[in-house]
Amino acid sequence: MKTHFLTAIALLSASMTLAQTPAKPAQKTAKLTPEQVHRNALVIDTHEDTPQRFVDEHFDLSDPLNGGQLNLDAIHKGNLDASFMSIWVEPELYKGHYARRTLELIDGSRQQAAKHPDQILFSTSAEDIEKARREHKYAMLMGIEGGHSIEDSLGLLRMYYDLGVRYMTLTWSNSNGWADSSGDDTDTTIPHTQNGLSDFGRSVVLEMNRLGMIVDISHVSDKTFYRTLQVSRAPVIASHSAARALCDAPRNMTDDMLRAAASSGDPGSGGGVVMVNFYSGFISQAYRNAQQAQRGEVKVAEQALKDKFKAEGKEVTYSDIEKVDRALADRIPRPPLSDLIDHIDHIAKVAGIDHVGLGSDFDGVSGQLPQGIDSAADLPKITAELMKRGYSAADCDKILGGNFMRVFKEVEQVAKQLQAESHASADRK
Ligand SMILES: [Zn+2]
Repeated sequence: MKTHFLTAIALLSASMTLAQTPAKPAQKTAKLTPEQVHRNALVIDTHEDTPQRFVDEHFDLSDPLNGGQLNLDAIHKGNLDASFMSIWVEPELYKGHYARRTLELIDGSRQQAAKHPDQILFSTSAEDIEKARREHKYAMLMGIEGGHSIEDSLGLLRMYYDLGVRYMTLTWSNSNGWADSSGDDTDTTIPHTQNGLSDFGRSVVLEMNRLGMIVDISHVSDKTFYRTLQVSRAPVIASHSAARALCDAPRNMTDDMLRAAASSGDPGSGGGVVMVNFYSGFISQAYRNAQQAQRGEVKVAEQALKDKFKAEGKEVTYSDIEKVDRALADRIPRPPLSDLIDHIDHIAKVAGIDHVGLGSDFDGVSGQLPQGIDSAADLPKITAELMKRGYSAADCDKILGGNFMRVFKEVEQVAKQLQAESHASADRK
């Protein structure tokens, strides 16, 4: 009875709509489903920590996920067109060998692309990303996480560029002498710069601009962030940062920082883009509070593990410690997916729809991700949630990858211009 009544109303309103609106071509009136929007979009993730797995676990992208979040199957299911492999050197474990470890991680990533040429295109430009898409391949790019990788050498920076690195976070959680980190900027036992960047730090940023390596401000201290914006000629990115207004983590960005990043670059620039980190500890205050309450227990468990290894005469590794941490973190309830969407929505509202994107931090967060996001295969769920909140297909295109592409192209353009300028001034000498 109820059904019949509703059907009658639906038929009536449909006939009224038909009577009132002029006929349009079918494909124009047909609304795309979230799955179609996601399939049609160029989907880019700017931060994934899988290279540690390539090198330390001999993980191959054709392997099953086995606790991780990225493999070829997940890439295809999630329609992930391109992502940046994070070249991250743990600063304590690899002290004295930063360049060596950096090169091993670069090699590990490049080896993956070389092993799967039918499915992966090793990419170093915006054009490569578009080419990969036309060829139905996944574009693999690389970004360095932590300026300590260059060991205070512009020469190393240039060599990393030549090997294909296209962004660098000025710091990781450690200050490096020329740029300060949000991870230790309140620690007075560690030397920090005066203004956020030393003179050498300023040279690093300008050389990155000249090379066409994107300046990434994820992880830096607030002071370093603002100083970098004064120096950089090209717009900056945050490859994996969330909003501090929603979750009070020192490496999340305040609303003022979000707006400043959006208007970064020389006058006339389209501005930068902030890619939202998916890590539960950065998107959920409740998760973060629970994690802080657990801190003592984590320390005790880590110490017990170290003592056990010592007693057995073995060296404890990063992945051994990570297993202990993950087991404890798994006890904290996962935040809802809506928490992650809240951050995207907040940044879109504060910084603008042209200044937000996705930087998952997959394989770098001990599996601590919101409900429903277990791997790159789940990326379409984000598009579905955004559309539920009223984001249009065009908005989703921007968030999923369009905004990053705009910035990448502008960084390439600025580099061309700066190189032309330096040639012109060299000619005059
Ligand atoms: Zn990071």
